[in-house]
Amino acid sequence: MDQDLHFKSTHKNELSSNSHDAGEWTGFKTVDGQLSFESMDQEAAFKDKLVADLVAKRKAIAYYDKHVRKRRPQEAWKVGRPWLKIVDDIMFCEYCSEDGVTCSFTEGCKVARLTSVKIHEQSEIHRIARAKRESYTQ
Ligand SMILES: [Zn+2]
Repeated sequence: MDQDLHFKSTHKNELSSNSHDAGEWTGFKTVDGQLSFESMDQEAAFKDKLVADLVAKRKAIAYYDKHVRKRRPQEAWKVGRPWLKIVDDIMFCEYCSEDGVTCSFTEGCKVARLTSVKIHEQSEIHRIARAKRESYTQ
């Protein structure tokens, strides 16, 4: 067997056996700040490892979010949103409440995510309520 090919196939096995744990990153060298691979197989194995590592991190973050982190609405979310009221970690919309409509922000939104705020802010119900509010105050 060709010496070089033998090296590569041996190395490939090492890489693939390592690719699903959080072990050492192998199979590449850094040349002038760029990653350099001996072969396309090594580059593919590196990508696999990278993906496996990212998936593991995402699972860890999801676990943290679910079991450790307690989400609370942030005061900073109120900046530029005079309608947003936070009472006992529950978010309300003053404009929609005044308009008499029913939505999660009039009943109290308990999903403490900025995405919830942004979705409400862009909703048609809210935009109508805001337009009415602005017409009173002008
Ligand atoms: Zn609203």
